[in-house]
Amino acid sequence: MINRWLVFAACMFAGGGLGFWTYSKDGLVAGVVLGALVWLMLDSFYVARLLKWLRVEQSDEGPVAMASRVPAMPGVWGEAADRTRRLLKSRDQRLLESQARLDEFLAAMQASPSGVVLLDAQGRIEWCNQIATQHFGFDAQRDVMQHIANLVREPAFKAYMALADFSHDVVIPGSASTPTRPVKLSVHVHSYGKDRKLLLSRDITAVELAEAMRRDFVANVSHEIRTPLTVLSGFIETLQTLPLTEPERSRYLAMMAQQSQRMQTLVNDLLTLSRLEGSPFPGINEWITTGALLAQCEQEAKALSVLLAPQGHQLAFDLGPPCEIAGVQAEIYSAMSNLVTNAVRYTPDGGKVEVSWKLLDDGRGEFKVRDSGPGIAPEHLPRLTERFYRVDRSRSRETGGTGLGLAIVKHVTQRHSAELHIESRLGQGSCFVMTFPAARVRRIQPG
Ligand code: ADP
Repeated sequence: MINRWLVFAACMFAGGGLGFWTYSKDGLVAGVVLGALVWLMLDSFYVARLLKWLRVEQSDEGPVAMASRVPAMPGVWGEAADRTRRLLKSRDQRLLESQARLDEFLAAMQASPSGVVLLDAQGRIEWCNQIATQHFGFDAQRDVMQHIANLVREPAFKAYMALADFSHDVVIPGSASTPTRPVKLSVHVHSYGKDRKLLLSRDITAVELAEAMRRDFVANVSHEIRTPLTVLSGFIETLQTLPLTEPERSRYLAMMAQQSQRMQTLVNDLLTLSRLEGSPFPGINEWITTGALLAQCEQEAKALSVLLAPQGHQLAFDLGPPCEIAGVQAEIYSAMSNLVTNAVRYTPDGGKVEVSWKLLDDGRGEFKVRDSGPGIAPEHLPRLTERFYRVDRSRSRETGGTGLGLAIVKHVTQRHSAELHIESRLGQGSCFVMTFPAARVRRIQPG
């Protein structure tokens, strides 16, 4: 500040001196005034420069551009410019940092597996992530500041927003939902800040499906067990209350044994399924010979054929080249035997069942069961491996089926990285093929 006064005094002194030197006494005052005016003009020039620079800096240029253009000015204005530059620089730095933090925060919300929508106090969309755009069919750019109620028109959602009871979620169909492929969303609103809302959406289609399957499964198991139980308790009551002859008695006991066998088979299949679902995938250290597996299946098929068909079936077993499969013996046998016994059970008396093992050119192993039975209509094929899914209910029951055989086959196939392929046409028989990967199959060298 002292410098400023010194410059001012120097200007006046120089002006006064020049005036006095030119016009003696009269020129002194004029010279002083002129000196003051020159100082004022110089000062105004620097102020104007500073203001011009400040105006430019308030436009959207960054701190780097700003720092490079500080006007060179002497004295107090130079210092003012320098201090202002430093202030602006630290402000811009802070702005950049908070922008980076905001970007990181938004990137984290973008990465969220749930849909995230930020709503303002009026319920307008301020921001939403990619998942939310898929869930609700929003356009992340176009729909910003649109009222959510104009975009999500589901009555249940409207009622939820109107009641403003956000202690629970609401389940609504997703924008991609169709009658054949329903999509269910769980939407939960959380209040924050001043009347603002955070809306979270979650695709619960798979969860709901699993829950429906669990309910169906429990209902199916209960039904399957209740039927033989009802029959059994009926027989017990008869045995207890009626005076029966010995032949009648032994007939009833035989029927009771059949029902209890049915329950036992069901419980065994259920236990097998739960073991398959709950145990780790088999490694490749246990090797089972295909010859032994197929021979066991053949014996079983023959025994079953004798029981079910008076004339018998034409059974043909082609053991193929001697090989080994890596996996769990009990599981692989269970899958193969289910396919073979199904073929025998569903093929009418006198029909043909062909079972074969083949080593394919690419090293994979193919186990094939072909029958000349009734075949399966195409609409049933995709659901055939579901638990308790039956096409021919009465034939399944008559022949001791539990409805779990192909579900077991599917699990064993998956656990051994194999593939199950079903080909069937109504009236033209069926063909079930299990293909084991090359890594799990090896040929046994003779000798
Ligand atoms: P199930 O114990 O009832 O045989 P599965 O899971 O083994 O149960 O089979 C499901 C359904 O698929 C059966 O109920 C039957 O209707 C049909 N199916 C299975 N194998 C054959 C086959 N070889 N020929 C015709 N239908 C079959």
